[in-house]
Amino acid sequence: MRHEEVRALQLMRVEALLERARATNEFYRPRLRDVGAIRSLEEFAARVPTVEKADFVADQEADPPYGRRHAHALALREPLLVATTSGTTGQGVEIHAQTASELAGTEACYAYLYRWAGLERGDALFLGLPITMMAGGQLELAGAEAYGLTVFPGGSYDARRKVELMRRFEPSCVLANTSYLGRLAALLDGEAWPGLKSLISGGESAGRSWLRRLESLWGVPVHDRYGSSQAGTDHMLSCRTGRMLHNDDSHVLVEVVDPDTGRHVLDGEEGELVITNLYRLDTPLIRCRIGDRAVYREPAYCGCGIPFMGVETATIARADDMKKVKNVNVWPQAVDDVVFGFDFVSEYEVVLTTSDEGADVATVRVAPRRVLAAGDAGALAAALRDRVGITFQVEATGPGELTFEDTKSRRWRDLRAHVVAAATAS
Ligand SMILES: [Zn+2]
Repeated sequence: MRHEEVRALQLMRVEALLERARATNEFYRPRLRDVGAIRSLEEFAARVPTVEKADFVADQEADPPYGRRHAHALALREPLLVATTSGTTGQGVEIHAQTASELAGTEACYAYLYRWAGLERGDALFLGLPITMMAGGQLELAGAEAYGLTVFPGGSYDARRKVELMRRFEPSCVLANTSYLGRLAALLDGEAWPGLKSLISGGESAGRSWLRRLESLWGVPVHDRYGSSQAGTDHMLSCRTGRMLHNDDSHVLVEVVDPDTGRHVLDGEEGELVITNLYRLDTPLIRCRIGDRAVYREPAYCGCGIPFMGVETATIARADDMKKVKNVNVWPQAVDDVVFGFDFVSEYEVVLTTSDEGADVATVRVAPRRVLAAGDAGALAAALRDRVGITFQVEATGPGELTFEDTKSRRWRDLRAHVVAAATAS
């Protein structure tokens, strides 16, 4: 399929989606009232307003617990897959449900992703995500079962038990959050098994150096995945070249827009992700601002032949992840990329504090693989200054001090006086 044919298919699906949302969805109906007929995806982007977390939370508060956007789906009396968000942004937890018939679309989406990760029916997947009320875990499990994988749902065990299970069952693929794959590799200590084909990372941002590090630790390709509770599926995965994450354009429409102008950015430019699910007609998601940013890439950028757009590998980050340090905008991902570029680093954390004079102090605390040589700390500080633009102190931690047993890493601790004071006041 050529990219123009993909776009034509998307337009057809968008038209059907808008028509159904107008007819059945009380949440979207007022938002679509003045939109009129849509003749192109450009018109769709220009005329249809975006929705975001605050809209979903307000909807749920007005009509608990699901909100009016789920009223039609509930009336269908179909079984639902219900997921909540984690609420890490402190703005309340969103609920996102999908009906059993919509789940078929989600499963078709996962079929693309697992195929891109080199998996075939009958392969075994070790699922390192716990099965909870969150979307992550439930969705990957549903997708894997539908695709025909044997699933080991090991996410709720501690890391040692996970490793024990992997050694026993020798899965074809391990799927876990990106930082956690490093934790598992440390416990495996270079051991792998012949049937391992690939890893699937995701769930948090990471730099290229970290992804390359994972590939060398495990000896197999790493495919980074992207999805959201709002989309109700993972829909992007990095292909065999590793250059970009391709989006499953047949199921999900991804726009990458300049947050100031609302215009779609050009190939190689960074923007905010706006997501429309093309197959969920009972519980629609139309032009949702997810709160993530990434560098947009056209299909041709990759060269692997997949005709789907996407984003450059290792450029996805939460829009609110950016830190202002010493009056400079710092993306944690850039720091991550530099730090893991040094082989002597096994793990690290960044601690932000305030000096007696009231200035920001940024310290990188490194868990080294070996005793640091004389120039190591200086070389790391210089590389950080070059790339990030501020000076970091570099310290070594004691053995076992940084483990990140948590399923998502918490590599940044902001203990600056103004941040701590604000947290206490609220
Ligand atoms: Zn590709």
